Amino acid sequence: MRIVVISRRRLFLVLMFLLTVGGSLTITLSSLTTPSLVRAPGTYYMANTQEKVIALTFDDGPDPIDTPAVLNILKEKNVRATFFVLGKAAHDNPDLLKRLVIEGHEIGNHSFNHDYQQRRLVEEIIKTDQEVFATTGAHTYFYRPPGGFVSKIQLETVKNNGHIVALWSVDSKDWRNPGVKQIVDNVIKNAFPGAIILMHDGGYQRIQTVKALGPIIDALRDHGYRLATLSELKMLDSEIK
Ligand SMILES: [Zn+2]
Repeated sequence: MRIVVISRRRLFLVLMFLLTVGGSLTITLSSLTTPSLVRAPGTYYMANTQEKVIALTFDDGPDPIDTPAVLNILKEKNVRATFFVLGKAAHDNPDLLKRLVIEGHEIGNHSFNHDYQQRRLVEEIIKTDQEVFATTGAHTYFYRPPGGFVSKIQLETVKNNGHIVALWSVDSKDWRNPGVKQIVDNVIKNAFPGAIILMHDGGYQRIQTVKALGPIIDALRDHGYRLATLSELKMLDSEIK
């Protein structure tokens, strides 16, 4: 599905739709990560490289149950990934935030409250960055907007505040909980050199994600890929942006 860099009016309509659906199904908005194959100009969604390198990214954590499960697998497989944390979840789970850094993972900024409308865009980015810095001593460099929604104005605003909008090129669709095999297939069948994979370690039950992670790493390696953080992947980008 292809969305993103959309007009304010369209963004509003989409959000109204999400609110309606969210309300009628009585599920929280944070579990409604909106899919989008995001190849939006001015955003970082892949690296332009021939090298078989790929980046795993995890959104919506840290979560007290699923993040440790994800981290254990990454440690066992010796993989470093990027975690787009929510400021609120980071505040509630400082030890997990520290563990992310200690184990060599990169921390990205996913806003504070996961507000799809991003009414306090700058405030939420700064607040999350401060939370991460206070706990780990590291600043966030990449910002991933909730649901991948970003208008041109928001894109400029984020840039002016020193962050790069980082989206993704392969959606595992784990947010749908479609079954472990489907999640693995969604990644492996769409993987390509320089791709950024979207997964989740929080926001909702992520048992399927946890079960799919090991097979995904093994299959990517069988296909000749090595795994990297977003910063490492970006260094291979031959395109000057
Ligand atoms: Zn999210």
